[in-house]
Amino acid sequence: MTLTAFATSDPLDRAELETAPVRFPRPSRLAVKLTLDGAKAQRAADALGLHSLGDLLLHLPRDQREARTIAELVPGDSATVVVQVKSISSRSVRRRGMRPLVEATVADASGAMKATFFNQPWLAQRYPIGTRLALHGKFEGRRGTGVGAKFTVQAHARTDAVAGSEGGAGAVAHYPATDGLSSTQILALVREHRGAFEEVLEPLPARLRVRERLPDRPAALTGAHFAHSDQTFELARRRLAFDELLLVQLALLRRRLERRAASSAPELNSDRELTSRWLETMLPFTLTGDQAAALEAVDRDMSYPQPMQRLLMGEVGSGKTVVALYTLLRAVEHGYQGALMAPTETLAEQHFATVQKLMPGAVVPIGLLTGSTPGRRRADLLGKLASGELPLIVGTHALIEDAVRFARLGVAVVDEQHRFGVRQRAALDAKAVNDQHPHVLHLTATPIPRTLALSQYGDLDATQLRELPAGRRPIKTFVCSSDRDRERAYDRIREELRAGRQAFVVCPLVAESEVLQARAATAEFERLRVGELRDFRVVLMHGQMATGAKQEAMATFASGEADVLVATSVIEVGIDVPNATVMLVEDADRYGISQLHQLRGRIGRGPHDSICLLFGAKESPRLRALAAHSDGFRLAEIDLELRGEGELVGTRQHGETIYRIAELPRDAELLERARRYAEEVVADDPELMSAEHALLADALVDVFGAEALAPIRA
Ligand code: ADP
Ligand code: MG
Repeated sequence: MTLTAFATSDPLDRAELETAPVRFPRPSRLAVKLTLDGAKAQRAADALGLHSLGDLLLHLPRDQREARTIAELVPGDSATVVVQVKSISSRSVRRRGMRPLVEATVADASGAMKATFFNQPWLAQRYPIGTRLALHGKFEGRRGTGVGAKFTVQAHARTDAVAGSEGGAGAVAHYPATDGLSSTQILALVREHRGAFEEVLEPLPARLRVRERLPDRPAALTGAHFAHSDQTFELARRRLAFDELLLVQLALLRRRLERRAASSAPELNSDRELTSRWLETMLPFTLTGDQAAALEAVDRDMSYPQPMQRLLMGEVGSGKTVVALYTLLRAVEHGYQGALMAPTETLAEQHFATVQKLMPGAVVPIGLLTGSTPGRRRADLLGKLASGELPLIVGTHALIEDAVRFARLGVAVVDEQHRFGVRQRAALDAKAVNDQHPHVLHLTATPIPRTLALSQYGDLDATQLRELPAGRRPIKTFVCSSDRDRERAYDRIREELRAGRQAFVVCPLVAESEVLQARAATAEFERLRVGELRDFRVVLMHGQMATGAKQEAMATFASGEADVLVATSVIEVGIDVPNATVMLVEDADRYGISQLHQLRGRIGRGPHDSICLLFGAKESPRLRALAAHSDGFRLAEIDLELRGEGELVGTRQHGETIYRIAELPRDAELLERARRYAEEVVADDPELMSAEHALLADALVDVFGAEALAPIRA
C-alpha cells in the first residue's frame, strides 16, 4: 500500500514517512468544557450546542467565503478581508467617556486602509506587525485605498490565508454563528484550540477506510476547518458525515437485533389452506406485483420464531388493506388471533368495511371495537376475544385497554403507526400470551424516500406498494396561472358537471388561522354559486362548521345531490366519491407537495378520467413536480430534494433532523454505504467485541449512551 498525504494522490517518500508525527490521542481532553470570555459569548456558544471542545471541532464551517480585497470595498460595505498588519498602536478617545481604541494600518496586495478596533486595547500586543488577519467589519470613509479608507472591525482572527494572493483575496472559513458569537470569533476559537485535533480518535477499522476510500478522522476534521479548497472541504465533510450515518445505522440495526433476540413469536410456516382459498376464489381481483411481493415478505418474516416488524408504505388506495388482511388470515389459519388497530374511529370503520368487502361471505368472524361501541356489544366482543372464539378484530385505541385480553394474539397490524406513541405500540405488544409476541405489520400512507426511511425506520424492515391497482385512472394535472387559464378551468369544470360528474374546489390554506381559512372558503362559495357555477348545486364545508353540518354537506355531495363541494383542506382524509372527477385548488403554492398529492387522491377513484387544476405560478417547482409525476414516492423524493431533510411535511413529527454534518438527500449514497457496512458489522460482530471494532463501540456509546451497547440476549 502506498501512503499519500491528505486529500492528494502524491505518495509520501521515506523521509516524510519517518518524520511523520506519532500521535497519542487523549480523547478525554475533548470532553473538557468550552469556556469563553464573557457571559454573552458563553450563552451564544451554549445556544449553538458548543458545550465541549469536541463540540467545537464538530462545528464545521458552512463554506469557505471568498474574502474581498481592500480596493474592491465601497463605503457602507460589510465585508471580510484578509490582510497583514503594517503598523498598530493603541490610544484612547474621549467620546462618551474614555474609550480604548486600537488603530492599525493593514494592507493586502490591492492597497492599504486604516482598521479600528474598539475596547480591546490588548490587541496592539496580540497582533504585532506582520500578523495575518481575517477581519470582518464595515468599510467607511473614502472609496479607494490609503489613509482616507477606514474599516471598523466587528470580528477578527488570525489566519493562514495569504492576503491578496493570486486570484483573489483568499478564502475564510464561514461558520454558522449567532448573536454574541460571530463566525470570525468561532474561527479564532478553533485556531486557539488547534491542539485538540491531536486528541481525536479514529473509530473506523483501517480495512474499511481503505475499502471506502475515506481519509482518517483527525485529518478530516482538520481538513474541514482549514481547507482552502471546496474539494478538500467536501472530502473531509463526507468522511465526518459517514461516521454520523454509520453510528445511527449501527444503533438502529442493533435495536432490531435486540428486539428479535428478546422475544419469541409463533412460527407461522404451514397450513396455507385458508389464505390460498381466499386468494384464489374469494378475492375479487388479482394482486398487483407489489402486493404479491409484500405477501412474500410477510410470509418469510412470520415463518421465523421472532416477531416480524415490517413497515408497509403505500399511498391511499394502493391496496394496503389486502396485505393487512392476508397477514391477519395467516394468523387465523394457524389457530391464532389477529388485530388491526387504526388511529381514528373513521379509519377503523373504513378498514372494517374494506375487510368485509375483501372477504365476501364472512368466512372468518370479525368484530369492530371502538370508543363508541355500546357496552353490551363491547362486553360480548371482549368475552369472545378472551375465549378465542373471535379470531379477528378491527379497532382503535380501545383495543389496547387493559380490559382487552386475547386468548392467542398472533398478528397485529398497526395503521398509520406514526400516530401512535411508543407506549401505545408497546401496549399492543404486551397483549402477548405465554411470552409469545405478535408479529407486527405497520402501515403508513405517507410515502417517504428510502433515505429518510433508513434514518427514521431503519430498525424496521420496509416494503413499498408503488404500483396502483388496476382500474385506477391516472389523474391529469395542470398548473393554471393566467386569467385565461382560469376561464378555461371553469369551462372544463362545467363540462364535467354537465356530463354528470362532480367537482371539488379547494380554498387556500391559511396556516395561521382556521377562522380566516373558513372565511375565505365561505367567500369563494358565495362567489361561485352566483358566478361561474350558478347553474349547479354548490355546497360548502370547512373546519369551523359544526360536526352535524359538516356531515350533512359531505352526505349531500357523496350522494350526488350536490355537484360541487367548496372546501378547505379538511377533505384531505376520509372521502370516497368515485363520481368526482375534477379538483380545482386555489393558491396551490401554499400547500406542500405531499399535501397536494393527498388532496388530488380524492379524484381518479372511479371509471372516468380525472383532472386536477392547480392555481399558482407556472414556474413553481412544486407545482411542476405534481403536474409531471403521479408516484407518491417519486414526489416525496423531489420534496426532499427541494426542501432538505427535517423540513419535510409529514416527517417533521418524527423529530428534528438527527444529523449535524450529514445532509439528506445529498448524502444518500453515503448513507447506503454506511447502511451496508453497519449490516456487515451487526451480522459478524453484533456486540462489537472484536479489537477492530473497539473504538467504534466507544463512539457508539459516546453518542447514544451505554444502553446502545447493552448485551443482546441470546
Ligand atoms: P389502502 O389501504 O392502501 O388505502 P385499500 O387496501 O383500502 O388501499 O384499497 C383501495 C381499494 O382498491 C379497495 O377498494 C380495494 O378493494 C381495491 N384494491 C386493492 N388491491 C387491488 C387490486 N390488486 N386490484 C384491484 N383493486 C384493488
Ligand atoms: Mg386503507
